Amino acid sequence: MAAVAAMAQSGVGIDEPWLAGKPGARPAGPAFAESLHSYNVRHYRLDINLPMTDKSYTAHQALSIRSDEPSLSACTLHFVNLVCDSVKRSGTTLSFSTPSGLLAIALDSPLPQNDSTVLDIFYHRESTVADRGYYFARPPGVTHAYCMTCTPPEDARYWMPCYDEPMDKAERGVELNLTVPDSFQTCANGLLDSVTSGAGTKTYWWNHPYSIATYLIVFSASRFAIWQHDIPLQTGDTLPSIYFMWPEDSAVSLVNFSRIPDMVTYFSDSVRFGPYPFDKYGMVPGYTGFPWGGMENQTMTMIHTSWLRSGDPIGMAHELSHMWWGDMVTCVDFANVWLNEGFATWAECLYNGHMNGRSSFNSYITGKANSYFSQHRSRDFPLYNPPAADIYNYGVIYCKGSWIMRMLQFVEGDTTWETPGIFYQALRAYGDSFKYGTASTADFQRINEQFSGQDLDWFFDEWVYDRGYPKYTITWDKQPLGDSWQVTAMLAQHNDASSARLFHMPYPIRFNCGSESALVVFRPQDTVALDTFVLAAEPLSMTPDPDNWVLDSSFVTGIQEMPSDEVRMTNAGPSIVRGVLFLPRDMTELPGNSDRVPRPALLDISGRKVLDLLPGANDVSQLAPGIYFVRQSSGMEDQTSCVVTKVLIAR
Ligand SMILES: [Zn+2]
Repeated sequence: MAAVAAMAQSGVGIDEPWLAGKPGARPAGPAFAESLHSYNVRHYRLDINLPMTDKSYTAHQALSIRSDEPSLSACTLHFVNLVCDSVKRSGTTLSFSTPSGLLAIALDSPLPQNDSTVLDIFYHRESTVADRGYYFARPPGVTHAYCMTCTPPEDARYWMPCYDEPMDKAERGVELNLTVPDSFQTCANGLLDSVTSGAGTKTYWWNHPYSIATYLIVFSASRFAIWQHDIPLQTGDTLPSIYFMWPEDSAVSLVNFSRIPDMVTYFSDSVRFGPYPFDKYGMVPGYTGFPWGGMENQTMTMIHTSWLRSGDPIGMAHELSHMWWGDMVTCVDFANVWLNEGFATWAECLYNGHMNGRSSFNSYITGKANSYFSQHRSRDFPLYNPPAADIYNYGVIYCKGSWIMRMLQFVEGDTTWETPGIFYQALRAYGDSFKYGTASTADFQRINEQFSGQDLDWFFDEWVYDRGYPKYTITWDKQPLGDSWQVTAMLAQHNDASSARLFHMPYPIRFNCGSESALVVFRPQDTVALDTFVLAAEPLSMTPDPDNWVLDSSFVTGIQEMPSDEVRMTNAGPSIVRGVLFLPRDMTELPGNSDRVPRPALLDISGRKVLDLLPGANDVSQLAPGIYFVRQSSGMEDQTSCVVTKVLIAR
């Protein structure tokens, strides 16, 4: 799913309902299992009679369930703003009740474990019910009478009885048999099996025999023009991509949908996401009340009319990528929603790079970073288990989520432009492992650990289960060393109070030496990391994270050569300390955040702290002579930085 443009930030206060447990905390175990309810949905078949004159319809649902307990005596479904007329099982009428938001059906005889049964639910929707889940409009409000379903994350229950959580996908899919006045056309998940005629009506028999979550079930009806791409696949098959739109929009759609085949080819490449997972793709505009830019209904994306009319290939690429990440593999619950939206937003960046080249990729993904930073400034929370009102938060879930993919790719060493490597192998293995099912953050971590051979607890702890991002100050200095140059560089993190204290993220910096350059990677173990490098040529400048692999902000300075007004010395010239090192009192205490800011310290050349420094005189007479660094923090209450000062301790 994607916003029309930049998504509005949700204005949620401090007391937020969280989805489950402690914000961001790792789940203690496999907490999310299908056994949370006592049956398993196997298939939804819906026969819906749409008058197309008002918001009402009548429907019959044949619900196939399997018992997950020894003796299933009742089946309770989500069911809101709908009216149940009757329920039958093999012709026998069953009793039911409709407690708030639910349809509770009593079975006439218990269903043994692992046995399946079909419940026939006859229900209808009144014309007076407010738009939610199902939307209808007719002229003069719109050009042609139009209806659609639009249900993320949990609004399917407003148009069909269902178990409306992604953890229970209907593994045998959905069938939508839509009866409309014969001047209308319909579209839905899957392929059209046949069209039959009645008295002034037509019934469209749509069948999608693939596992599906309820929020991805869709149909729409109106006066549609229809056309399609037949897209050749690497497998040798052809994928129909079928488009539905009002006839007057068909010309513009020919232009603005023209990139879909290229997108399918790009993503379904065997070195990227792997084979397209379904037997159809398609798009339909949401002509009334559609609140999103796009919605990745399985095999039938719905797009905002602004995307239809002005074109938005990147948004369309986002939705298409969801066919793998969101639809084929669905987040087990919305605590894990970044697995849907972070992946799809990353896929946007990839397709933009494919279309427009590497520098465009860089500026595009930098835009995602800036959207996240903007959200962070007002309020931040972990990617995992966001507040319930924030499961579609653009800055955190979409933009930071996309950067998780980018950074994991770097951590795994898959860094050659447009040459997918081990990270993509892990991604495809994740796809294969959870194909047509559901997955969690822990599942994704585990597969990445298997493929990279790395323990990734630190990565997921800092980036997914905690919040924020690193703010680096990088200071560096050079001096000739025979024919070479010795470079000393320090990477200091002074992260916000609303961020993890320390990110262990490897951090690349490039020293530019005229026509040559040298890339070095810091592997911080503390908030200050110090390293020395020997370079063959003189470094003239330094570029932090030149290929944009890390979600960070950085500030670069030269190492300060001991300005005499900051550190005063006795018995010494301006840069040499003998015996006693004086630290001015005003540089050693910070207003606020003092527990998060490193205390002043003396570091040796390897960055190891050798002495805590106090205001005033510090005895350094016992230290071995050599180069040391005074690390001080300075700055305002909410914005601190590290100042590093080189000193030479001499006898
Ligand atoms: Zn999305």
